[in-house]
Amino acid sequence: MIPIRLDLAGRPVIIGAGLAGLATALQMAPEPVVVLAREPLGSGAASALSQGGIAAAIGADDEPALHAADTIAAGDGLVDTATASRVAEAAPAAIMTLLRLGARFDRDGADRLQLGLEAAHSRRRIVHAEGDGTGREIVRALVAAVRRAPSVTVIEPADARRLVVADGAIAGVAAQGPLGPFYIPTRRVVIATGGLGALYRHTTNPLGAVGQGLALAARAGAALADMEFVQFHPTALDIGRDPMPLVSEAVRGEGAILIDETGERFMADVAGAELAPRDVVAREVWRRQAQGRGVFLDARAALGHRFAARFPGIAAACRAAGIDPATAPIPVRPAAHYHMGGIAVNAAGQSSVAGLWACGEAASTGLHGANRLASNSLLEAVVTAGWVAESMAGQPPRRAGAWRADRLPPAANAKLVRGIVSDRLGLLRDREGLATAIAALRPLAFGNGPSADPVLVGLFIAAAALRREESRGGHCRSDFPNHAPGPPRRSELHLDELAPPLAGAAIAMGD
Ligand SMILES: Cc1cc2nc3c(=O)[nH]c(=O)nc-3n(C[C@H](O)[C@H](O)[C@H](O)COP(=O)(O)OP(=O)(O)OC[C@H]3O[C@@H](n4cnc5c(N)ncnc54)[C@H](O)[C@@H]3O)c2cc1C
Repeated sequence: MIPIRLDLAGRPVIIGAGLAGLATALQMAPEPVVVLAREPLGSGAASALSQGGIAAAIGADDEPALHAADTIAAGDGLVDTATASRVAEAAPAAIMTLLRLGARFDRDGADRLQLGLEAAHSRRRIVHAEGDGTGREIVRALVAAVRRAPSVTVIEPADARRLVVADGAIAGVAAQGPLGPFYIPTRRVVIATGGLGALYRHTTNPLGAVGQGLALAARAGAALADMEFVQFHPTALDIGRDPMPLVSEAVRGEGAILIDETGERFMADVAGAELAPRDVVAREVWRRQAQGRGVFLDARAALGHRFAARFPGIAAACRAAGIDPATAPIPVRPAAHYHMGGIAVNAAGQSSVAGLWACGEAASTGLHGANRLASNSLLEAVVTAGWVAESMAGQPPRRAGAWRADRLPPAANAKLVRGIVSDRLGLLRDREGLATAIAALRPLAFGNGPSADPVLVGLFIAAAALRREESRGGHCRSDFPNHAPGPPRRSELHLDELAPPLAGAAIAMGD
């Protein structure tokens, strides 16, 4: 029997300690909360890797309506416009919140926040830190704030493995902790487990980003939305590392161009050129590489010897591979980078299961539609953490349920799934490949092995991608190359649509 943490019973449990999880915990204060962090605070989170920055309309020539319009344009018809306006309007206050929590952003000589430009933003509105170390600085500040906060109990490392459901509502969380398995009875759980890029062979995400929170939520009965929309970043540093270091869009924002091995600038005739939406740039790069061509990001003319000062982290990653971006083009390739879909949530961050909230990359708020606008995800993580904290604080405590299973499922391992997901669910999809993926994934998704959760997440992507008979944003079908006729629609899927009834049900327990 797994030990029950009665000392923590009833407290809201936040699964994940990236920006979304830490910001939720801090914004719940003074109510006591528990954070389950799979790796020691500050590591294992995509938040800490983010480079370019966080978008907010704070420039003199900018306003939230312009930011929302850019977000809507990038999302290719699927952005929830009310959410885009709400998030864009909340962005300046989110920057203030981060400053209050101790984040130090880059400033100009007059002590104003420096604002960078990124693809598909019509204004300079990217707040950044240490040049390209924005996420590291934000996470540093939030980790320090959490360590100081008496209301936050962090269990690290703690790997959440299952949610318990009773009477159709969340009743507890079972996890593997530093001293073994444990169970916390609670009626309030937040999934803040980030993205799923590590299901792919080429990714910029931490290798733990296998979408496990989505699997936990789906097994508990929650709807997942827009699962087919995976964003591939066009310029991951192609030097054989896993995960791949990122060469931020901000480098193109500063004027760097994409060239092939002959030196031809192949984006010149595409609308928006190197700063076209990510899906457009990623597919152009991918097409060249599928023809056996080399692709490079050339910052020699735009930045030259200023490169290392403006982008110290990227310069260091290049140097480690023997490349000096001041004098040589940087080898790049597309890599799975961000997931627009996730746990379907309402305007308060609530999922379709009572007592289960989600925020950050694990949630699907509709902000990103079919394609995320750069630097909107850190923003979404902070803003939606506030919505979740507010919504959870208003919930009366209820009796939680017991854990009755003998043991926990094993730790998630995505090794088995990476090949099929990369080959069939990548930048270009078709019916045959998607059907092959579904046939391969379905039997494993409902087993008890270490690959079951990553496989289930892959299965959701494949099923949603098969249903969407069109190309839109990050989802591109060679057999349906255009938008479908009629109004665009978001997609939603439940576990029971993928499997025979009961085969993958959450571990349902009585009180
Ligand atoms: C290289 C890179 C650069 C980026 N640059 C930018 C940028 O400049 N601007 C921008 O807006 N966005 C950027 N993004 C995207 C952005 O970083 C993420 O979308 C955002 O940080 C997600 O925050 P999060 O808190 O939701 O998830 P994360 O920061 O990934 O945190 C997830 C947390 O959940 C934990 N976890 C996962 N599963 C479990 C489990 N079962 N039990 C317990 N804990 C678990 C993880 O260990 C981690 O602590 C970038 C992403 C990458 C990879």
